[in-house]
Parts: sequence; C-alpha cells; structure tokens
Amino acid sequence: MPAVIVENDTSQWQDETGAVYHFPKRYQAWLAEGTEVIYYKGRIQDKTFASARLSADPHYFGMARIGKVYADQRSDKGDLFALIENFTPFESAIPSKINGAYLETIPATRVNNYWRDGVRSISQLDYDAILSHAKLLSSQADQGTPNIEGDPLTFESANEGNKSSYFGTRYERRKDLRVKAIAIHGLDCKACGFDFEQAYGEHARGFIHVHHIVPISDFGGEKAVNPETDLVTLCANCHAVVHRKREMTLSVDELKGMLRGRWVIEP
Ligand SMILES: [Zn+2]
Ligand SMILES: [Zn+2]
Repeated sequence: MPAVIVENDTSQWQDETGAVYHFPKRYQAWLAEGTEVIYYKGRIQDKTFASARLSADPHYFGMARIGKVYADQRSDKGDLFALIENFTPFESAIPSKINGAYLETIPATRVNNYWRDGVRSISQLDYDAILSHAKLLSSQADQGTPNIEGDPLTFESANEGNKSSYFGTRYERRKDLRVKAIAIHGLDCKACGFDFEQAYGEHARGFIHVHHIVPISDFGGEKAVNPETDLVTLCANCHAVVHRKREMTLSVDELKGMLRGRWVIEP
C-alpha cells in the first residue's frame, strides 16, 4: 500500500526532503522498502517558512519511493529512518482538498484525528487520485555518478543550503548523498572517532567530511553510489591523510592501523 509522509517545517530530526525521512517505530509496517510515497505538508505554522513551501495551505508536493530503512542509533525510542529514492517534486502544490472533497479517504472512525498522523497508509485509488493532479518536475535520480569529493559543498553542514532548491532544476543530488551518508554513518570520524561538535561546540555542529571509498575515477560512469558501503564519514585530518599520496588512497582500516598506538590510545 502506498503512503503519505508528512514533512514538518520544523522538526526534531534534520531530515532532508527527498533524501532521508525519520519516523517513529509505530509506522514501520507502512514504510517498508519499496513503498511508494507522497510528500505532504500541513497548514503553515511559522510564516518564515513560506518561501520554502509551494503553498501555505495543506498540500502534497512530491512523490518518491522508500529505500533502505535503518534503526536510528541516536534514538532511545526505537525511531527509524528511511533513505528516500526517486524523489520527484511537483511543479505546483496539490491541495489536500479539491472542490470541497479531500483527496484522501478518511475512515469514519478517524474523522477527528486523521490528520494528526505523520505517516498515513492510503489506498492505491487515493494515491492515483492525488497523482492525477500532479505536474512533475523531472527527477534527477539518474544523472550519473555525482562527485561528492573535492567540492566546497562537501564541506558544508548538512543543515545548510537552500531549502527550496529542490523545487528547481538544480536539485543537488550530491547533497542528497551526503545527507544519507551522515544519517547512516553519523557525524563522528570513522577512523579516529573525532566529533567536531564535541571538540568545538555548537559552531562546528553538523560538520564532517564525507569520503568516497571508491575513487570516482575508478568508478566508471553509471553505477549508483551506495551511501552505506561506498561512503564514510571522516574528520578533516583523517580525510587529508587518506588522500595524502595520489596513487595510494588508504582504506579506513589502514588508517585506523596507523592511528592505533600513536594518536588513538585504545584502553
Ligand atoms: Zn579522524
Ligand atoms: Zn576522500
């Protein structure tokens, strides 16, 4: 069954539209890998977000598919997150109600609290009805291998960047992979354990380098990047050492071996 996933303008999770979606455990059965989903926003609460939305009213704004689902290591409530695949934004908002009728079928027993849920399982009929109103912006899912190394964007915080950029044609697939890599691997260095926020405080929050394990030059065109196996988070020092010698990119294990007994003294 397809599902509607609600995106709030502000949330406890740093989700990135079209890349990562966090959700409470109770929705797990509805968001299995492969589920077709439609993105939804409720009525605007805070007007400062107006420019990052297609409409102030409740509306649908894009479609996607649920990718791999992970347990959120940072949650003590068993929350999960899903990688989002094939995100395709709509050109304009689809209102939740057209000609006085909701596009979603609300069960009689749920009239009072239907819109409260962050994830709503919907019928194929409702899914098709919503999409029949959609004008799609082209998905940029298949544009070859994005280079996430050596680009200034790589060194930006995951929370930075233009929120509304995904409505334009310049949707950054690169940033999308970076967000997925950080959701999976965390914000600490996978070689030495360094955590920028812990060391420098709030100012460095969200900062980490994302290293592509297979050099782009060896990658050969079309293969999709798997953020779990092809990417890893490294601190700036470790990342520099990995690339110190042009013809010899170190593996994370090699790097760990060098650190052990020198800088990182294990108990
Ligand atoms: Zn490190
Ligand atoms: Zn690298």
